[in-house]
Amino acid sequence: MKQTHAFQTEVKQLLQLMIHSLYSNKEIFLRELISNAADACDKLRFEALNNNALLDDDGELKITVTANAEAKTITVSDNGIGMSEAEVIEHLGTIAKSGTKAFFEQLTGDAQKDAHLIGQFGVGFYSAFIVADKVTVESRRAGLPESQGVRWVSAGDGEFTVEPMDKATRGTDVILHLKDDQADLLSDWTLRRIVTTYSDHISVPILMKKAPEYDDEGNPKPSEELEVVNRAQALWTLPKNDISEAQYQEFYKHVAHDFEDTLAWTHFKVEGRQDYTGLLYIPKRAPYDLYERDPKHGVKLYVKRVFIMDDAKKLMPLYLRWVRGVIDSSDLPLNVSREILQESRDLDAIRSGSVKKVLALLEDLQKNQPEKYTEFWNVFGNALKEGVGEDMANKDKIAALCRFASTHNDNDVQNVTLADYIGRMKAGQEKIYYITADSYAAAKNSPHLEVFAKKGVEVLLLTDRVDEWVVGSLFEFDGKALASVAKGALDLGGMADEAEKAEQAKVEEASKDVAAAIQAALGDKVAAVRATTRLTESPACLVVGEHDMSQHMLRMLEAAGA
Ligand code: ADP
Ligand code: MG
Repeated sequence: MKQTHAFQTEVKQLLQLMIHSLYSNKEIFLRELISNAADACDKLRFEALNNNALLDDDGELKITVTANAEAKTITVSDNGIGMSEAEVIEHLGTIAKSGTKAFFEQLTGDAQKDAHLIGQFGVGFYSAFIVADKVTVESRRAGLPESQGVRWVSAGDGEFTVEPMDKATRGTDVILHLKDDQADLLSDWTLRRIVTTYSDHISVPILMKKAPEYDDEGNPKPSEELEVVNRAQALWTLPKNDISEAQYQEFYKHVAHDFEDTLAWTHFKVEGRQDYTGLLYIPKRAPYDLYERDPKHGVKLYVKRVFIMDDAKKLMPLYLRWVRGVIDSSDLPLNVSREILQESRDLDAIRSGSVKKVLALLEDLQKNQPEKYTEFWNVFGNALKEGVGEDMANKDKIAALCRFASTHNDNDVQNVTLADYIGRMKAGQEKIYYITADSYAAAKNSPHLEVFAKKGVEVLLLTDRVDEWVVGSLFEFDGKALASVAKGALDLGGMADEAEKAEQAKVEEASKDVAAAIQAALGDKVAAVRATTRLTESPACLVVGEHDMSQHMLRMLEAAGA
């Protein structure tokens, strides 16, 4: 029986937005559908590892792209995992991703700006409606009988219908009924050009109608024969020299479900205790769920070119959750369960090797492509900083990659590294001074900075939430201790001259009675009242004990309800 369902509100919005904002980029619909077909083949290959019967007698996974000029349709077929009726309704009617609502709240209605937001979100199946005014999906999940096929139909206008059907073959056919003005897509040449441009890196063979041969009079001899039009090899297994920049980019869009280019990548092969290959990318934009409680990790695990799992949390630490790509191991057993993998020590070795590659890529960008590094820092810097507290083994490397605002500049731009700071330290200066605060203005105008300004000593201005964690975990860098200017007694070390020490003693002596009176008035609200030479303009300031939590941290905890 045919049932009509309404799209989730967000899907409706997405469809509208996509049709309007991606029109000039319409060819991507084919990339998205082929990408889904390839994912479906990957999933089947994985499930078949433990249940070979799923393959029936049709073990050669493939994708077919055909056009029918009379019917004005383009069909993308695969013999991958397929979908049951319930799966069709779930996957092609809702957006099953957390944080969707927040994402849609960011939309402005300005097509240009929103197109970027869509990119961040992934375009996917719904991009079919850029060129089609009706889409039919016919699917049968692997393992289900012929009678349990399902047909999904929608005009992209708010609803879709679902009905059971008999489907002879396993997998999914997506049939696009093209809009009247999209007839140019029907030409075999155009279609082939789009497929080879966008999908050559796909590791499953893509079949298309053979280019026509010509008879003696020069007339084409129509042929229904199909041929493979892509290289059909896993891109990451090829030598670097055989891969063009464009192919690296297209592969990125496939694995990351992104529609914009990547910022940079690292492609490596490691041989040793574990043999594995990795192709890891840095996106240009943060995923919408970067700071969600349970963010998606973006590295896929393959074993001997067989896809094993998505969203492999075990492959990247939390602070590198924004890295996208694949890692393919030659040693892990193929029939291993995902649960066992999560416990695997071999995977630990692969992870620590891969993390080093990502950090090396960042070091390389920082050194050789500073503009790119700045672009990276502005998007992912806050996440990377978490690594100083999270990854003990690489703490110093990560700290070296961090950038901060400082009193050396007149603005809040984070462009000072710890090495820059050390390079500018004054004679006799032993410590790296910093202040944490809620905002740049609060940090910059803090009375604690006065004495440092007087002496021309630079102070790092730390105003990101994560900074408390950074300075709580990083006690020194390159042999120089980090010191908060708002904690403990002021210790300028070798920078304080004898005259100043004498002056401090004199001030303390002279103010003894005043300090005692203030102390008496404030009672146990304060631990001590001290006269100081650290202020040059403000009459008084609060400091916390050397080992106490900073005021900023206390405020943060209070705000969090602790
Ligand atoms: P994404 O690929 O980012 O998950 P899409 O919008 O492209 O998002 O696809 C939504 C979901 O629909 C997929 O995650 C998958 O579960 C399902 N799907 C789409 N195309 C196919 C297909 N050819 N075979 C099986 N499942 C599919
Ligand atoms: Mg997709």
